[in-house]
Amino acid sequence: MISKLFNKKETDSVQPFIISGPCSVETPEQLFQTVEALYEEGVRVFRGGVWKPRTRPGTFEGVGTKALPWIKEVKQEFDIEFAIEVASARHVEEALNVGIDILWIGARSTVNPFTVQEIADSLEGVDVPVLIKNPINPDLGLWLGAFERIHAAGIEQTAAIHRGFSNFREKVYRNSPNWQIPIDFRSELPQIPMICDPSHISGKRQLVPIVSQKALDLNFDGLMIESHINPNEAWSDSDQQLSPKALGLMIRSLQTRKVHF
Ligand code: PEP
Ligand code: MN
Repeated sequence: MISKLFNKKETDSVQPFIISGPCSVETPEQLFQTVEALYEEGVRVFRGGVWKPRTRPGTFEGVGTKALPWIKEVKQEFDIEFAIEVASARHVEEALNVGIDILWIGARSTVNPFTVQEIADSLEGVDVPVLIKNPINPDLGLWLGAFERIHAAGIEQTAAIHRGFSNFREKVYRNSPNWQIPIDFRSELPQIPMICDPSHISGKRQLVPIVSQKALDLNFDGLMIESHINPNEAWSDSDQQLSPKALGLMIRSLQTRKVHF
């Protein structure tokens, strides 16, 4: 459960924490089947996009509010915690109303101090873990600033997600890892757990294990990995999602460090 991520420093500083689930929640069946299969692989903390911040319009922008009762249902069926992305005060309110356990701020929101401040203001007096992805551009200050805003609202449980930085033209990685930036982040805020999102760095599933291993070699605290019951049919990010079986295999093959869920 997510609390292990925040207590980890006292217990075992080398065990990475796993969050997995689909890029987007698509249908009740896709959500249920993905959660069921990942649960069998040992996953206990899940992700799933409800409102999707797509770079270009005209692509799938998430099913929105109607996904929330589906998430509530899988949470009741399995003993799990669930994280979704929020990008406005309305998203925060709707997520908390259905008992979403963990919120995350996406890369296209971290880049905008007005958005981060709006989310921070909506979190005053609330006790919920908040994960903050790096901004899409390689700007450490914006990432740190987002933490300052969320901490000033009284949120104590926060973690960073390194998801890489936008490229101009096709590169090996969909988003360049620029590993020095999360390393510098850790020297500024050493108490904040650092999670790697190898899926959005890689952009293709073949690279996900290499990027995950690199993050573990750098002593990251956890991994957030996209997984879909039928990756090729996914409505967003189909090239980079792993099947639950592939995810389980990969986790078990990561070198040197034990994982916990
Ligand atoms: C996502 O996690 O599906 C997502 C949209 O990520 P990012 O904000 O890193 O692009
Ligand atoms: Mn995605």
